Amino acid sequence: MDKFKTATLAMMLATCSPATPVMAEDFNYVVDRFADIEVLRYKVPEFESLPLRQKLLIYHLTEAALTGRDILWDQNNRLNLPLRQLLENIYSSYSGDRNSEDFKAFETYVKQVWFANGNHHHYSMDKFKPAFSRSFLEEQTSALPADRQPSASVKDELFRYVFDPAFMPKKVNQEAGQDLILTSAVNLYEGVTQKEVEQYYEARKDSTDATPVMHGLNTRVVKDTDGKIVEQTYKVGGLYSEAISRIVDHLTQAREYAENPHQATVIDKLISYYRSGDLKEFDEYSILWVGDTDSRVDFINGFIESYDDPLGMTGAWESIVNFKNLDASRRTEIIGSNAQWFEDHSPVDQRFRKDKVQGVTAKVITAAILAGDAYPATPIGINLPNSNWIRASHGSKSVTIENITQAYDAASHGNGFNDEFVPDTMVRNLMDRYLFITDNLHTDLHECLGHGSGRLLPGVDPDALKAHGSTLEEARADLFALYYLADPKLVELGLIDSPDAYKANYYHYLLNGLMTQLMRIEPGKDVEEAHMRNRKLISEWVLAHGKDDGIVTLDKVNGKTVLSINDYEAVRRLFGQLLGEVQRIKSEGDYAAGEALVEKYAVKVDPMLHKEILDRYAHLSIAPYKGFVNPQYEIKRDEAGNPTDVIVGYSEDYPQQMLRYSRQYSTL
Ligand code: ZN
Repeated sequence: MDKFKTATLAMMLATCSPATPVMAEDFNYVVDRFADIEVLRYKVPEFESLPLRQKLLIYHLTEAALTGRDILWDQNNRLNLPLRQLLENIYSSYSGDRNSEDFKAFETYVKQVWFANGNHHHYSMDKFKPAFSRSFLEEQTSALPADRQPSASVKDELFRYVFDPAFMPKKVNQEAGQDLILTSAVNLYEGVTQKEVEQYYEARKDSTDATPVMHGLNTRVVKDTDGKIVEQTYKVGGLYSEAISRIVDHLTQAREYAENPHQATVIDKLISYYRSGDLKEFDEYSILWVGDTDSRVDFINGFIESYDDPLGMTGAWESIVNFKNLDASRRTEIIGSNAQWFEDHSPVDQRFRKDKVQGVTAKVITAAILAGDAYPATPIGINLPNSNWIRASHGSKSVTIENITQAYDAASHGNGFNDEFVPDTMVRNLMDRYLFITDNLHTDLHECLGHGSGRLLPGVDPDALKAHGSTLEEARADLFALYYLADPKLVELGLIDSPDAYKANYYHYLLNGLMTQLMRIEPGKDVEEAHMRNRKLISEWVLAHGKDDGIVTLDKVNGKTVLSINDYEAVRRLFGQLLGEVQRIKSEGDYAAGEALVEKYAVKVDPMLHKEILDRYAHLSIAPYKGFVNPQYEIKRDEAGNPTDVIVGYSEDYPQQMLRYSRQYSTL
């Protein structure tokens, strides 16, 4: 249910010193920098010391992960794959001056397209604006060998896709009142209107079904020749068959090295689902996957998160392969084993609480590969599966990816953020000391407990909050985390050593929600992304309800807006109060109240403050968005060809990796 996206943490960790020591300084975390992006590298600590079998399991799972790359590109837009091919052909063969203005602009654009898995910004959803000339691309296209040039008709459309700002301007449009399907550039629907699709799914919903599949999760919706609405299924023999067959091959190889029979069954079921495309099988797989808590190695591979579908139905393809970080997992195990205590003490109405919280499995993991929708921009915490009834009756798995958070932290030292935005030395010291650990705890609480807490009243449609559902769900999980970060219970459980530590997190959260996250919004635009809306909603609500009593204020000091928190305990009470209201909205399916909250607090940007933030950021050299290159894995073999080891390497730069992936993993 979550993507606590890259930039969030990049921002949150902007300058803190870690509470735990950073690894050797000779490791180059920063790999590339262009446009509004910084590309980092992450380490995979302890990989070397895993047993060979686990290394081989990870190796084959990483191959299965990388093999799905083209699926996501095509889901994002039907023109992305031919566009990538054209751009890479030119990028690789260009023989002119690579320092010329046109080529430099072209290179930036290619890097942006790689980063976004397509021609639309991964976060703002807006189409990129190329800074090179049309004639440059014309010339370079004609200079390619004939067999590497697109056909005339494809070329025309690609040039329109690159240069015409009015053509497919938005990846996912969320603007109320418009046809969200017709105005979104994603390739999940064709020839159908929003109304038709909504009616289609409405007719398929069976309100008496206690275990409904997630309709549309693995399909593209089109009209057939008779004008009837049909779903095209992503499966072996269906849509994306070529890519999915190869994923299945790698999964089959991985299965050889499964750690235990249960894990082998998980892989078998996933393969079976990829062959049938049957969502009942996906549910069976999800239940088996949730039940696999003994294995050290774990993975996600499939159509998972539906943020890139304007209607929130179809899952974007993604994969993350990981293994448990045993030391750090102690933290989430403590939280998980106290889940019922947290539920029972939550500041929401008794009627909306769970009598019995179902098995929350929480662990801290080390990512071994990021792929599909999780690459290069990646979440730092994940909580799956997304199916409501499976979560209710079988629980969910929740993870914090600590080698990713560690890389963000290590890369952000000395960038000047604190000096600019946190004038109070006491707050700054608290952040230096406690921000890294409280951010990790925030993610743990958000993922392990927040999303899983509370319940719907009987008969309430889980989709009742419609387009505002994601924002309010993220707000619910964040508020749960914020409320409990300040609870003495955390000190009692030994998760933190100071009752004041939470203040670092509170200050940074409100600073981000009220001010600094605006640096990722273009002037004149609204806040659209669900996690950003959530943070703005919470922060603006707390400011609105706390400023008259002086609890939280925004003041101008020497022309700069400064956030002050004067009563942290009162802020916690406000978080608790808002949590109660958001939970009520969710539990009762109160769409009108949910919409009012979002519209009032989460969307509109104060243009003066926005300009000020952008100006202040312009003086710092902080990239608004960050993502990662993966390590490379290589199997070593003896003379008989038997594997003897798997080596992890960190030598690739960003274009090298992207071009290699296109060579090795092109499937569509
Ligand atoms: Zn979340």
